[in-house]
Amino acid sequence: MILKPICDILDQFYPDPPIPLDFSSPFTLLIAVVLSAQCTDKRVNAVTPALWAHGTSPADIADLPVQTLTDIIRPCGLSTRKADAIHNISKILMQKYHGEVPSDRTALEALPGVGRKTANVLLSHVFNIPAFPVDTHVMRLAKRWNWSNGNSPEAVERDLCSLFPPELWIKRHLQMILFGRNYCTARGHDNSKCPACRLIIQKVPQIPA
Ligand code: SF4
Repeated sequence: MILKPICDILDQFYPDPPIPLDFSSPFTLLIAVVLSAQCTDKRVNAVTPALWAHGTSPADIADLPVQTLTDIIRPCGLSTRKADAIHNISKILMQKYHGEVPSDRTALEALPGVGRKTANVLLSHVFNIPAFPVDTHVMRLAKRWNWSNGNSPEAVERDLCSLFPPELWIKRHLQMILFGRNYCTARGHDNSKCPACRLIIQKVPQIPA
């Protein structure tokens, strides 16, 4: 397994990786992550200002007609399902949590449209509780770099959590997303151009698209 040289490159390229989704509170991050399912972060960031123009609290969003919500978030795709989830999340937060996002994994995962990855994003980015969210980029890179042979996000998460100390989980997760988007893309790879494996082992088998 090639670990340190790749981590050195990740640290060199992304010493302080930013969170790609725009947010101003735990609630706005939660909704942005729900919107990001099968959608790019860039598009979510383009859409959310129109949503927050109606207010940024669960009470504001729970008051919005679901059809209005659906129309606003349509560019993110799966708009009917996401609008229902956002509406119901807002209502539940009002009814059960005094309008706050809970900092507890079980409570987060019980919310509509919230799975383990979304819970991990919330726990790590807003509650400072170490977690390693595994999305499609993290899955792909972990496999290509032989950091995990897991076939599910949960299995890959377990492997990555055992590779790094908890204080590095958030950083490595963000670095892998950025590197995956910019260099190690899903369409395959060109190891003559890629700055990572090319520097480490001169010849990496081409990955079929
Ligand atoms: S050489 Fe290929 S597998 Fe290695 S990091 Fe670059 S794109 Fe990914």
